[in-house]
Amino acid sequence: MRVEIVAIGTELLLGQIADTNAAWLGEHLALAGVDSHFHQAVGDNLERIVLALRTALARSDGVVTSGGLGPTHDDITRQAIAEVMQVPLRQDPDVAARIRELFASRGREMPASNLRQAEVPEGATVIEQRLGTAPGLICPVGEKVVYALPGVPYELYELFERGVLPDLRRRVAAEGGTGVIASRVLRTWGSSESALGELLAPRIAALGTAAGSPTLALLASGIEGIKIRVTVKAPDRETADEWLAAEEAELRAVVGEAAFGTDDDTMETAVARQLGRLGWTLGLAESLTGGLASSRLVSQVGASAWFRGAVVSYSAEVKQRLLGVPAGPVVSEEAARAMAVGATEALGADVGLSLTGVAGPDAAEGQRPGTVFVGMALPGEVPAAQRLQLPGDRDRVRQMAVISAMNLLRRRLAAVPDSG
Ligand code: ATP
Repeated sequence: MRVEIVAIGTELLLGQIADTNAAWLGEHLALAGVDSHFHQAVGDNLERIVLALRTALARSDGVVTSGGLGPTHDDITRQAIAEVMQVPLRQDPDVAARIRELFASRGREMPASNLRQAEVPEGATVIEQRLGTAPGLICPVGEKVVYALPGVPYELYELFERGVLPDLRRRVAAEGGTGVIASRVLRTWGSSESALGELLAPRIAALGTAAGSPTLALLASGIEGIKIRVTVKAPDRETADEWLAAEEAELRAVVGEAAFGTDDDTMETAVARQLGRLGWTLGLAESLTGGLASSRLVSQVGASAWFRGAVVSYSAEVKQRLLGVPAGPVVSEEAARAMAVGATEALGADVGLSLTGVAGPDAAEGQRPGTVFVGMALPGEVPAAQRLQLPGDRDRVRQMAVISAMNLLRRRLAAVPDSG
């Protein structure tokens, strides 16, 4: 099954917003094992949207559109799809009722123009709107299909997962007769895409291209690492899960400690899992990252079980006064170690993690930008620190410092046996 993304909105063409919906959809189609060979972006112009849809339908089995489902006159995706389907638009009373309810629940009068959003091409199926006023639409065009989703990213994500994905899976299954396509993602951090590619080459060769054997794909996710997607086509869900588990084990053996989780896991989840396993609490001392690491960790539901808090010790004086860092250079291994120990004491935590370094653009204490020290203090172990040299500008150095420190911590904790 091949699905093309058509992002609709003049602001995309003018560069006023980046097409993050197409990026997200591309990733999630790939995760579902659906091929996507083309992306288009088109402005709010009926003729050109119709052309974009016809072009997409000529070379793909389905289309996902983003945007142009709003209540204003330049939101014309519905009309364009109706024209391609060669059917009229009809007002859907259920959609209209939900729009009215949504306004009523917010204590607001519904502008009449919002009823435009209740117009549905005849023959289309509605994916009920829950977060915004625009529903998603499943629009059959012969054997093919156009899925229309609103442009607001969180509305698009929710409608895609609840309404589009199940329909796509049904179509994919129908194509291959019986059976299911299932995927699992192994999340890795610390290897480049090319290094991982080389590492996996023998495994990919061993799997071959025989029908029924799992397929592997690498998906780069910026500073969050590289995802390895395994897709299998199996007779039923149970078998698919068995095959995915077997392939995951093979891959873990190949990539080793670079693997930190699967599917929706993040580096934060991986850290939380290790702390939970050991029953330890964590305290942070952050200098150049100014609370970024704490913020990421606290985004975990249930963080209160293991996160004690953080000292944002930006100045040398605060490092000395609150954390007991000795006088001397503060961008150093010694300072990082002292900060980690200081965090455990000041915050009453079992484990201390610290970050100190030079975010740039200027050098400090004779150290060049990107120099970062990560300190760690674990129960019963000598405090340790590691020097990193990170690339990029100030913002990137700070982001990289956070994920690098979380990764070092997760690996160090993983090495502690259960009884520790
Ligand atoms: P709604 O019906 O909820 O108003 P819509 O379908 O009319 O949504 P648009 O009006 O096209 O969608 O876009 C709404 C907002 O969603 C835009 O202002 C923009 O911030 C965001 N948006 C639209 N398209 C994209 C895209 N391709 N990638 C990221 N954000 C987008």
